[in-house]
Amino acid sequence: MIRSITQQKSEEEIDQLLSGLGRIFVIGCGTCVTLTHTGGRTEVNVMKEHLANKGKLITGDLVLPVACDNMTAEALNEHGQQIDQADALLIMTCAFGVQTIAKQLKKLVVPALDTLFIGKETALGQFDEVCAQCGTCILGETGGICPVTSCHKGLVNGPCGGTNDGKCEIDNAKDCAWTLIYNRLNELGRLDGMRKLQKPRNHQGEPSPGKFIL
Ligand code: SF4
Ligand code: SF4
Repeated sequence: MIRSITQQKSEEEIDQLLSGLGRIFVIGCGTCVTLTHTGGRTEVNVMKEHLANKGKLITGDLVLPVACDNMTAEALNEHGQQIDQADALLIMTCAFGVQTIAKQLKKLVVPALDTLFIGKETALGQFDEVCAQCGTCILGETGGICPVTSCHKGLVNGPCGGTNDGKCEIDNAKDCAWTLIYNRLNELGRLDGMRKLQKPRNHQGEPSPGKFIL
C-alpha cells in the first residue's frame, strides 16, 4: 500500500507557530496519517490535551475521512460554527490535505506535520521510501531500482567507491543500491547500462507551480 509519509513537527515548533493564537480548531485525517500514527483520532486527542495545557481554547476538532478529497468541504461545513470561532486551524494531515482544507476556508491554517515522501508499507507500521518524485525518472536504466531513494547519497551515477562487500559505506546494514542495480542489470544482460553517464540531477525539478495537462 502506498502512503503519504509524515512526521509530527516538534512541540516547540508547533507552539511557536501557534504563538499569539488563543482559539484553535484541530483537524486530523482517517487515512495515511492514521496509519502512520501522526494525525489520527488518538494523535488529535493528544494534541488537544497538549494545547489545553498550553492555555489554548479548543473550539472543536474533526478527523476527516480523507482530508485530500473533494468531500472535505461538506465535512468542514458541518463544523462551520466551531471553525468560525477559531483563530487558526491546526491541521494534522499531509501537505496535500492542508492545502485542500486551506482552499475551502478563509482561515489561517497551521500544519502540525511535515510531509516526507511517498512510502510503501513493508511491515506493520514500517514504510520504505519508494519515490521522491524527482521529476527525471531513470528506473528504465537502473533495472527498476530507484537510486535516488535507495542510495544513501542519492547518486544517479554509482557506485560511489565506498561499497563494501555489497553493503553501503554509510549504513553497512543496508545493501548498496548500486550493487543491486549492477546485479539486476547483469541478470538482464544489460550491464552496458552501467557505462551510461546520467545527467546531473536537476534539484530544482520542474518550475513551480508544477502542472500536468493530459
Ligand atoms: S528516479 Fe526514483 S525518485 Fe526519481 S521519479 Fe524515478 S522512482 Fe521516483
Ligand atoms: S555505498 Fe552504494 S548505496 Fe551507499 S552511498 Fe555509495 S553508492 Fe550509494
